[in-house]
Amino acid sequence: MTATANGTDAARDIVVIEDLHKSFGNVEVLKGIDLAVAAGEAVVIVGSSGSGKSTCLRCINRLEEPTRGRIIVGGQEITGRKVDLNALRRRIGMVFQGINLYPHMTALGNVTLAMRKVAGLSRAEADEKARHYLDLVGLAHKADSYPAQLSGGQQQRVGIARAMALEPQVMLFDEPTSALDPELVGEVLNVMVRTKQLGMTMIVVTHEMQFAREVADRVVFMDGGKVLDVGTPHEILVEPRHQRIRDFINRTR
Ligand code: ADP
Ligand code: MG
Repeated sequence: MTATANGTDAARDIVVIEDLHKSFGNVEVLKGIDLAVAAGEAVVIVGSSGSGKSTCLRCINRLEEPTRGRIIVGGQEITGRKVDLNALRRRIGMVFQGINLYPHMTALGNVTLAMRKVAGLSRAEADEKARHYLDLVGLAHKADSYPAQLSGGQQQRVGIARAMALEPQVMLFDEPTSALDPELVGEVLNVMVRTKQLGMTMIVVTHEMQFAREVADRVVFMDGGKVLDVGTPHEILVEPRHQRIRDFINRTR
């Protein structure tokens, strides 16, 4: 075993975050985050607005530069200066709150674009793979539709297919349903459940507590730029030992 004192295991863990700090100017918004995510694990991050959840995810694919600390993805440190960011982002899928498909491209075109540009697949290979992932998110029949012809939930599912198609080592979801009309939330969460069932390693920021309870292997509660507690969904969301978390849960009910 290569397990270390803080409970991480380089052979098992896909993502290891060590003492992650991030400041904007002189405001420190991440104050030392430690977290390891094992292969196939779904970790859900919850916490109040402004607690640093998005900043933490954004550091994992270097959309933000950490001020201090290390992040290791798939055994490779990604916080060094010489990291190839394109290669890194191919290994890390990200789905954001806002939907950001190219409006002038079909669903198929949106999914194939990154595969052709970033992963260098031929059109035929990319098309075949894209159809497979569109089918996975239940949108095989919408391959030739443009974003404007799709509902918000369908667009977000195309975004998930696009990220999945690069076959990343980990998928990061930052409140993927919070911009959707309530009746469209379920279909996106269902696709995320499938993603988990396929064995994808996932880090999910969400306010959907039922999803967190049912799908998370572990829940991380962030507060003021720190991890206040980590545990099973039951430990964190059902019988939290911190008053701070109990207050949060009561507000979201
Ligand atoms: P959360 O996702 O938990 O709501 P964020 O990570 O978005 O929290 O933000 C954490 C804190 O960092 C907030 O106070 C936010 O205003 C601040 N922040 C985030 N991004 C920036 C930025 N680019 N410049 C300055 N402050 C930022
Ligand atoms: Mg956020």
